[in-house]
Amino acid sequence: MSDYDVSIIGGGLTGLSLAAALAPLPLRVLMIDSRPAITDLAVYDERSLALGFGSRLIYGGIGIWDAMAANASPIETVHASEQGSLGSTRLKAADCGVAALGYVVTLRDLATALEQRVSTQPNLTRLHSTRLTAVDSDGGQVTLSVEDDSGSRQITTALLVGADGGASASRQLLGIDTTTKDYNQVAIVANIEPREPHRHIAFERFAHSGPMAMLPLTDNRCAMVWSLPPEQAEAIMALSDDAFLADIPRHFGYRLGDFLSTGRRDMFPLKMTLAHRLTAQRSLLLGNAAHALHPIAGQGLNLALRDVAVLAELLASFDDPGDDMLLQIYQQRRKPDIDATANYSDGLLRLFSYPMPILAHLRGAGLIALDRLPPLKKRLARLGMGFRKPLQGPLFHGRAVR
Ligand SMILES: Cc1cc2nc3c(=O)[nH]c(=O)nc-3n(C[C@H](O)[C@H](O)[C@H](O)COP(=O)(O)OP(=O)(O)OC[C@H]3O[C@@H](n4cnc5c(N)ncnc54)[C@H](O)[C@@H]3O)c2cc1C
Repeated sequence: MSDYDVSIIGGGLTGLSLAAALAPLPLRVLMIDSRPAITDLAVYDERSLALGFGSRLIYGGIGIWDAMAANASPIETVHASEQGSLGSTRLKAADCGVAALGYVVTLRDLATALEQRVSTQPNLTRLHSTRLTAVDSDGGQVTLSVEDDSGSRQITTALLVGADGGASASRQLLGIDTTTKDYNQVAIVANIEPREPHRHIAFERFAHSGPMAMLPLTDNRCAMVWSLPPEQAEAIMALSDDAFLADIPRHFGYRLGDFLSTGRRDMFPLKMTLAHRLTAQRSLLLGNAAHALHPIAGQGLNLALRDVAVLAELLASFDDPGDDMLLQIYQQRRKPDIDATANYSDGLLRLFSYPMPILAHLRGAGLIALDRLPPLKKRLARLGMGFRKPLQGPLFHGRAVR
């Protein structure tokens, strides 16, 4: 018998979410992370995440939504506009018959809720400051070679789950190729305070400098994600806080008045990495290891949670976690959603990156037309909320797997 049933490589948001989802199942779960155990919340960057209504249901099923709710700011309206164009469109939660189109949470609050949830989980063993260095599968089990300060050793498992991020070592060790697209852009993120109330509107602004999302956070703060060419981003990072705050309305406009204060600024390089396949013998990928996307549409973690929900449901129904059939069904159910979501994020970015004025007018007209087409808007809203077909499995409906 293997040492573990399921070994998750990577304890980021995806790995933690999967570990928590597997709590009710009679599985021996191992989670390995190259980072040390987190004792200081300052290690988390200033990123905030827009979670669709579908993700809120999944976190309800995982059992952490109640702990998150007080720190989650609802998105009641999405407003999209383009700098220099009259067109704009609004999607409203009320028009879609839901209380909120999604919720904005800080990475710090979400990771804290997940860490608390798994800290008392009897079926989970965690190894920190430990790196996966080799993988060998003989069909009956997978042998993992791992390394920590005290040296290297081997662990056996029935299923290897690679959740180790965009530069995934498990993906490379499994010999899974990727397609990568470097956007030659970086994202600056900061939580900033506007003079006017945000009224729970998520703004998507296609500024000349690059797309800018302004997401409503608690305490009337806005989580800004601004994608820019690297040289321009360096110049903005070098500004004083006051100069930075004064610069924002030149790109974003004055819908929220001027900006009064800012938290720390962080910067992320942006590229899309897509794994050519999601599975190998007794192994599979999920989260950023399978699909790292541009954050323009805020879909990365939402997509990862759908990976988690599908995998947790499959693990609940198969006796052998590394069963070939389980792997095949996982690939079949996840690949179309991953490809469609990646195309949507990439397409949106390409459409709004074109500087030609004629295209700007067409885009403006498109935003006006979209505003007048409620059925299409509703469809887009459902996609943004993370509702996809087929929605099989209890987590998609806010219930734990059993
Ligand atoms: C600016 C920005 C804004 C975003 N906004 C949104 C949003 O609004 N909505 C949304 O849904 N998504 C958003 N995303 C995407 C989201 O942040 C990611 O999809 C999500 O955090 C991915 O988590 P992950 O756990 O898959 O990967 P990671 O966070 O990269 O975690 C990987 C983990 O694996 C560990 N690891 C790496 N190598 C090894 C190894 N060899 N052995 C052991 N462990 C290893 C690492 O230590 C790490 O803990 C955004 C991303 C960015 C950059």
